Amino acid sequence: MKKPRITIVGSVNMDLVFSTPRMPAVGETIQGQEFHQIPGGKGANQAVAAVRQGADVTLIGRVGEDNFGDRLLECLVDDGVDISALSRQAGMATGVAGILVDGDGHNSIVVTPGANQTLSPAHIDAAATAIKSAQSLVCQLETPLSAVTRAIEIAHQSDVPVIFNPAPMQALSAELLAMVDYLIVNETEASQLSGVPVSDRDSAGIAAVRLLERGVGTVLLTMGAHGVFIAEQGARRFIPAVAVEAVDTTAAGDTFTGAFAVGLAHGLSVVDAGIEAQYAAALAVTKFGAQTSIPHRHEVEQFMT
Ligand code: ADP
Repeated sequence: MKKPRITIVGSVNMDLVFSTPRMPAVGETIQGQEFHQIPGGKGANQAVAAVRQGADVTLIGRVGEDNFGDRLLECLVDDGVDISALSRQAGMATGVAGILVDGDGHNSIVVTPGANQTLSPAHIDAAATAIKSAQSLVCQLETPLSAVTRAIEIAHQSDVPVIFNPAPMQALSAELLAMVDYLIVNETEASQLSGVPVSDRDSAGIAAVRLLERGVGTVLLTMGAHGVFIAEQGARRFIPAVAVEAVDTTAAGDTFTGAFAVGLAHGLSVVDAGIEAQYAAALAVTKFGAQTSIPHRHEVEQFMT
């Protein structure tokens, strides 16, 4: 099968993960159990998910000229991601997430975006060829909206399908949503964007219809361990998630998005790409961390048989 080409615009972070018996109170110091540095950031996670599912992936983004930047670029190259459009910002730290995970698996997170914040429309223009020549463009919102908007405009003008995962959510214009072919949102993001509180399949259906009315082509509303609700003009479908023993749900949504993009680029229908993406995401949930948990294609194929 020919390798699909996917271009991703997004964040690159180092996750600093502390496991602790409980969350410290304000002003308190407690002893943790383990510490791990794990490559993360939604853009990089989705790039790694897509490359491990068998695509050629170009990631457009920014890191700092620091040790975390060196390490993250090395990891992306080891995975086979094209980093020629990933540039470095002098005098600014690479994006970092400080993550506390307590004994019940609950987490508290502080993210400092650092160099991710410096991605501008000019960086996107410089990488326009990678967008125009791709089979799809994938974006999230951990990089500035102005840069993401420019990337979506270029893809839309070149008839390259746009897969948009607007996380973390912010106000989005009607013009932008009208250029989105596939909108991937979790329950929180769907509630924020549609104004309809999503808590079950019925409310997911109502929220998805609202989002279609705002001009999006197809809505994929992911509902964690429940599954995904897919809505297109005239068609609705709920696909249950694959039941697994959850260890850590970090990067479940990113794995879903990256794998969905590859499935579509391989010519699968939206539903079949959604099914494959759910198998990949379920596997990610069975392992600890962000990029440490994202499965390879052969693992997903084996899991599906
Ligand atoms: P996000 O990580 O963006 O919040 P979700 O939590 O909705 O997104 O998860 C995305 C997808 O990952 C789900 O649609 C589902 O396929 C899969 N997933 C998430 N949590 C679980 C789980 N506990 N068991 C099985 N699959 C899961």
